[in-house]
Amino acid sequence: MSQCPFSGKNPQSVTLTSANGAPVANDNQSRTAGRRGPVTFDNHYLFEKLAHFNRERIPERVVHARGSAAYGTFTLTNSLSDYTIADFLQQEGQQTPVFLRFSTVGGGQDSSDYARDPRGFAVKFYTEQGNWDMVGNNTPVFFLRDGIKFPDFIHSQKKNPRTNLPDPQAVYEFWANNPQSLHQSTILMSDRGIPLSYRHVNGYSSHTLSLWNSKGERYWVKWHFKTNQGIKTLTTEEAAQMPAFGAQQDLVASIDNGDFPSWTVKVQIMTEEEARSYHINPFDLTKVWPHKDFPLKEIGQLELNRNVDNYFAETEQAAFAPNNLVPGIGVSPDRMLQARLLAYQDAHRYRVGANVNQIPVNAPKCPVHNYQRDGAFAGINPALASSGANFYPNNRAMAGEPAEAVQYAEPPMPLEQDAWLDIYDTQDDDNFSQAGELYRIMNESQKQQLVSNIADGLSQATADVQEAMFAQYDAADEDYGRRVKEAVMVRLTAG
Ligand code: NDP
Repeated sequence: MSQCPFSGKNPQSVTLTSANGAPVANDNQSRTAGRRGPVTFDNHYLFEKLAHFNRERIPERVVHARGSAAYGTFTLTNSLSDYTIADFLQQEGQQTPVFLRFSTVGGGQDSSDYARDPRGFAVKFYTEQGNWDMVGNNTPVFFLRDGIKFPDFIHSQKKNPRTNLPDPQAVYEFWANNPQSLHQSTILMSDRGIPLSYRHVNGYSSHTLSLWNSKGERYWVKWHFKTNQGIKTLTTEEAAQMPAFGAQQDLVASIDNGDFPSWTVKVQIMTEEEARSYHINPFDLTKVWPHKDFPLKEIGQLELNRNVDNYFAETEQAAFAPNNLVPGIGVSPDRMLQARLLAYQDAHRYRVGANVNQIPVNAPKCPVHNYQRDGAFAGINPALASSGANFYPNNRAMAGEPAEAVQYAEPPMPLEQDAWLDIYDTQDDDNFSQAGELYRIMNESQKQQLVSNIADGLSQATADVQEAMFAQYDAADEDYGRRVKEAVMVRLTAG
């Protein structure tokens, strides 16, 4: 009989157990029929190990698969009580625990941290009235203003379905047919397209969200998280030299070393009245609100100060959803946001399951009382407070069963008067002005990088796609259009 070399030898060690908690006497050999014979069918511990191993993965996110995350604190420095009843935005000095997950968008879990790609910037605020998820990016706008194009867009930016290789033709063919992407693609192709690390990015709600106060007044709001580490970026050539896991390593190391990254939190606020007459559609995700029209108001500091203990349990199972809202914070008529209200929770139910919000990283820190029941991996059921009612309304509020709190009713949201349900074509809804504004604030070095990055990919696309893109850059800014065309021609001539 062979002896397990470690069992019981070290008095400090705890006893190894199987999943049902029973001590394991031998973890190194299977039970066999004789010294040279096969494994027998009573090797239930072997089978348990192999079966669990087979189930170690859950479906990775189709977008934002590769992520890094950490815990921290949001400190309010300027009360928003005039605008919102949100309990964590009332008293200056108030602190709220947060969890922030950064990510790339297009690549799978084992892709590089240094892709030219937007970075996800999703913050879970564990407030005393529930979790608020600010599910943003490191860009103030997005490629699309309507979620119906999202699957097409992502398909075009991922690998070619036949060759499984990057496909610049598809990338630019989508953009050529969707000029609404020009503003965001200009940011992506600029020097900001490859951040040095997650500590060196800004975060934006990008969407217009809302705040509402105890008088029933609603304000439209955009959130900005400005990095206190400064924006730092890499060129395409520099990024190619970096280890694939560099941004993950940077975040873990800086927090482990006590060098806590932080962001200054700011908001832009627009009244309903201003929104009605503003020349830009304030709910169009391809547009910013220019700072001169809606100045940034500083409201707090966000610091990351604790790494996760278990990457899978926390970072991978973290489930951010824009519909995780709290009283005083609401959505807006932004069409991309409505698409995300469905898509994010749907993704998490598929990836993690119906009880995704019971997993510690997702669980609110305040009590949860409702009548949602059971499902896969249901932990302690939040209903059944005392009387066991699993339906509502009931007559058992006095017995401690949850009841509605009408004081938190959200005020009605204004829409266009006499709005008709129809399909409205917004394809040509000024796709160029703000891309041009951005181009014009870039310095010469930034313009050169932008043009060069575009030309690298666009020169690999077909002539019809190139012509359509030249026209878009030209519509944004003549100098932008001229330079891109010249740079593409140089590459085509060279090779
Ligand atoms: P401002 O001059 O007031 O603000 C310009 C903003 O652009 C700053 O916040 C700056 O961010 C940011 N910026 C600078 N270079 C880049 C880049 N390569 N990629 C992305 N952002 C960059 O101008 P406006 O408010 O009138 O906006 C002009 C343009 O600036 C917009 O069309 C938009 O593309 C861009 N922008 C605007 C934002 C807004 O909310 N108004 C937010 C971010 C960008 P930082 O302070 O971090 O350097």
